Amino acid sequence: MLSLLAFLYYSRMRSDREEIDSIKARLSITAVAGRLGIEVRKGKIRCPYHKRHAHGDRTPSVSISEDKGLFRCWVCEDVRGDLFDLLHVVRGYTFGESLEWIRSEFPGVMGPVPYSPKTSAAKTISANVSSVKNRPQGDSSEIISDPDEAPADPLFREKIILSFLKLLKPVDDTPAARWLARRKIFKKTWDKARLRYIDDYDRVQRDLLGLHSLADLQKAGLYNDKGHLRYYRHPLVLPYLDDEFRPHYFQARTLDSALQPKELNLRGSVPFPYNKAALNGEPGWVYLCEGAIDTLTVLEKGFMAVGIPGVRSFKTEWLGLFRNKRVVLCLDNDEAGWQGMDTLTELFESAGMDVARLELPEGQDINDWFGGRK
Ligand SMILES: [Zn+2]
Repeated sequence: MLSLLAFLYYSRMRSDREEIDSIKARLSITAVAGRLGIEVRKGKIRCPYHKRHAHGDRTPSVSISEDKGLFRCWVCEDVRGDLFDLLHVVRGYTFGESLEWIRSEFPGVMGPVPYSPKTSAAKTISANVSSVKNRPQGDSSEIISDPDEAPADPLFREKIILSFLKLLKPVDDTPAARWLARRKIFKKTWDKARLRYIDDYDRVQRDLLGLHSLADLQKAGLYNDKGHLRYYRHPLVLPYLDDEFRPHYFQARTLDSALQPKELNLRGSVPFPYNKAALNGEPGWVYLCEGAIDTLTVLEKGFMAVGIPGVRSFKTEWLGLFRNKRVVLCLDNDEAGWQGMDTLTELFESAGMDVARLELPEGQDINDWFGGRK
């Protein structure tokens, strides 16, 4: 058993490393800087921590080596590394969030899903990006978590998630209510899904630190390495509830259409699909959607639906949850979505299950299709 686990761990690590290397080989660090809105002049950019510099770094101190794919500030020890480090320094992204951002900003750069359901040694469909931990800074060869570090105990994480949700407001009369209504998602649905809103980030951050240690909040995946609650710009919180409405996980959503990533997942592994209660073992159709908002859109229309946080985050161990269901795949109509649907079709079919696809018009997601406005 141990050797099987070791094999899974190392094959997973290798595929992550291959993915990193292939992204770095195909994506220019200058292009990343440009997309972040950073002006590159003569191979230099202004330091993101310009206040540390004597004259506010008016003459840029950060060199960018396009050939090596690296950057380095000549004043700040901690401002250096590859394009993932750049995303971390400038945006505070974890490794998983960086992958999401690259996927949305440079869709051609990410490789195909390196997974075949027939060789099902790997537990998840490729690397589940949301579960890849933040990399230690400064060493670009260290790409995933320390093998000696035990994953957070689920009960420990649930306790912290529960106290976080208790500090939040229901979405009624908040900007999130208007945002949801524009997407044709209304009160009955958001009440049932127990959606919550972070109305006062500072208060929530302070109150959580009064209840738990920073180390525990970081270990549970709510706080970043700098000691801040991660959901500063993602105030709409969508809990993943079990059959008894206990939250085990959540996604947070920005209401600002210009902001990426749109959904910020809790760090750590996804325990089950969103709206798991729909998987009740009774015969019937269930829509499998990308993201919690799409799931709520379908539920609002009176159909059964579950969601996965990203096209590649479906786990083969969830197949049993879909017993007696006929599955309609409705991932986004884009390249990642098509690939995800191909993989999932094969996976459900190989498990002897009935699966169909909802073919949306090009460029539409299910919310557009049902008439939502963004
Ligand atoms: Zn600097």
